[in-house]
Amino acid sequence: MSNLKLAIQRKGRLTDKSVELLKLCGLDIESYFERLVVTARNFPLEILFLRDDDIPEYVQDSVADAGIVGENVLFEKQTTTMEMEKLGFGRCSLIIAHPEKNQLKSINEIDGKTIATSYPNILKNFLKKNKINAKIIELSGSVEIAPSLGVADLICDIVSTGNTLMMNKLKKSFNVFDSEAVLVSSKATLNNPEKNGILQDLLGRIRSVKNARDSKYLMMNIPKTSLERIVEIIPSLKSPTVLHLADENMLAVHAVIPSNKFWHIIEDLKAAGASGILLLPIENLIQ
Ligand code: ATP
Ligand code: MG
Repeated sequence: MSNLKLAIQRKGRLTDKSVELLKLCGLDIESYFERLVVTARNFPLEILFLRDDDIPEYVQDSVADAGIVGENVLFEKQTTTMEMEKLGFGRCSLIIAHPEKNQLKSINEIDGKTIATSYPNILKNFLKKNKINAKIIELSGSVEIAPSLGVADLICDIVSTGNTLMMNKLKKSFNVFDSEAVLVSSKATLNNPEKNGILQDLLGRIRSVKNARDSKYLMMNIPKTSLERIVEIIPSLKSPTVLHLADENMLAVHAVIPSNKFWHIIEDLKAAGASGILLLPIENLIQ
């Protein structure tokens, strides 16, 4: 049986999160430090560690069967590689920024300006969509220093916190593209029954990890008389589980809830008589 070859970033912002996701999917991956290829011990998967820029092309050319890469890189490279699933990490935005001293109020003011970027294709699309004529200067790195060097009026670059912008006396003006890490694959992989079978298994596991990340297991004890009120309060995915306790005036209630709801309901639960409230992480959730 052949393995699915999955390309992930070798060393960078996506590396640890990609490996962590695969481990949460139940894959037993040996220590990957300084290795180029690693085989999972309990799943037909080989991990290839590559530069993130190369991943879309390698997947397109079937050097790898699938990959994990940022949407910014995926869209910039304009390959036939397909996005299969958003992964919820590596979030960042491609933005246009201007020197602090030169205000940029409306998007039309970009017209006639020079913009330095490492993302000429995404920027070109954005300018075209907004009917703007601007000159694009392609730089492979350190884009943020272009305005102070007099190379460009504006920049179009990735930000997540904005610290680099501030250090270079730049200010964000317009959002061009929001990005996160995605699982990508190719037609060739989907058309190969064996590889596609492994890919679908992996995708199912990834979805279950994503569901679990967004959900928590809530447990509490309640007076029997409060059951109706408590069930009303709990934003449960399914009907909560109700268990008897040794004290026959009390019940235990368990439910899977969306993580972000917990702090909204806690006061109501306490007011309804809930005690011993526990909120536990869930490792996997298959719906
Ligand atoms: P490589 O050596 O693999 O080419 P790189 O230097 O191009 O690495 P990183 O800086 O490690 O890339 O970023 C990898 C990806 O992480 C980016 O393409 C983007 O999708 C995502 N990312 C998340 N936050 C940020 C950020 N603040 N700055 C840059 N990229 C970010
Ligand atoms: Mg790169």
